[in-house]
Amino acid sequence: MHDFDEETDALAEKIFTYARDRTRLDPIPLNHPKTEDELREQCGPTITTDGIGGVAALEMFTDILEPASLSVDYTKYLSFVPAAPTESAVLFDLVVGAASIYGGSWLEGAGAIYAENEALDWLRQLAGMPEGAGGVFVPGGTVGNLSALVAARHAAVLRLGDDRPARFAMIASKETHSSVQAAALVMDCDVILCETDENRRMTGSEVASLLDEHGDSIFAVVTTSGTTNLGIIDDLRSIGEVCRERGVWMHVDGAYGGAGLASARTRSLFDGLELADSFIVDPHKWLFAPFDCCALLYRDPSKAVDAHAQHAGYLAFLDSHGDKNPSDYAIHLTRRVRGLPFWFSLATHGTAAYEAAIDVTLDLTDAAAEMIRQADHVELAHEPNLSVVAFHRVGWDAAQYQAWSEKAMASGLAFVTPSRLDGTPIYRFCFVNPRTTTDEIAEILEALK
Ligand SMILES: *Cc1c(COP(=O)(O)O)cnc(C)c1O
Repeated sequence: MHDFDEETDALAEKIFTYARDRTRLDPIPLNHPKTEDELREQCGPTITTDGIGGVAALEMFTDILEPASLSVDYTKYLSFVPAAPTESAVLFDLVVGAASIYGGSWLEGAGAIYAENEALDWLRQLAGMPEGAGGVFVPGGTVGNLSALVAARHAAVLRLGDDRPARFAMIASKETHSSVQAAALVMDCDVILCETDENRRMTGSEVASLLDEHGDSIFAVVTTSGTTNLGIIDDLRSIGEVCRERGVWMHVDGAYGGAGLASARTRSLFDGLELADSFIVDPHKWLFAPFDCCALLYRDPSKAVDAHAQHAGYLAFLDSHGDKNPSDYAIHLTRRVRGLPFWFSLATHGTAAYEAAIDVTLDLTDAAAEMIRQADHVELAHEPNLSVVAFHRVGWDAAQYQAWSEKAMASGLAFVTPSRLDGTPIYRFCFVNPRTTTDEIAEILEALK
């Protein structure tokens, strides 16, 4: 099965055709999930002693499995944070798989890692972080946050030595992403919740009083540059200054919103980000890369190496070839060079095309907010931030929100799911797909009448 023969050749043809057709598919269907029993019945046995053959397996995917999986790039998929990978990034993902490159060490993956680092450096410059800052692409914001926070705590352990506290804690706000609580559980440390201001932003003065209260037990302050629910950016400058003054690590979670750095219209909202000790942004969210791809940057990457480098006899040869090994910057060893589709698309189209595409989604945000202001049956729950529009369907309870979303998904009208704000149900549109049109937004709002 490792030999290329006529059968593989025919299969290659079919797979390339599939990929080409999928990248130019218009319109893209939403699709709909099925139960495990339904899928079992439709597929029959998939793993057999003699194999079902590549063509049959591919047909099973295209005819049964894919239609039972939602297309995240469907233009009316506006829930959570959708995705809208560029065609060049998607196509290059095929190349990454075919090229069989190990992305953990410079020795093995130098060329590919060089290109990944070019893409990371574009993000570093946008963030205003100093030269020498750098990092690695990890699967997602969850692993990015965890890896950064492990590095932060390790730096505190090294700094405090015998004076370290019995239990460490980090400061975050109640708007902070759920993955930060998940990281705290893995790390067996506490999260101290910081009050936010009237705009739901964490500020330096609140952080300062928590630092006064909790002293050296705080190893990091986790700020968010674009909350998932509302797109809100904490007051990065005032928090950054407090963190600097106290020698506490500032982490900025820009998994969703960090892409806003690339637009002149939103860049100033990130003022103070340059003070961060670590920063993440998911190109698989608003930077048009396929899953899965999170850029993790450290102001001083050597601190990440202190925490994450793995040492063993069988790895020593890698260390003898320099210390720029991506595996040393996060919780992983083997890694796919998952930053390459993002790099390829950036190299292909140039950064101006990225700014233009983000601006289209900002225009959609403005248009949607205006339509909601004009309508009686819906009401903005918050002024839009970045590309998130959160709104109420006037007069509906949680069950009605849920029922409408189920129906909209079943009919293929839209994927718009309920969220909650201060205990009440809301809908939110998150725009990351430049192919979404204002007519489609109007169609969804009309269907909510
Ligand atoms: C999406 C998101 C995460 C988690 O990222 P994954 O890539 O889903 O692991 C973390 N923080 C914020 C603010 C997010 O929006």
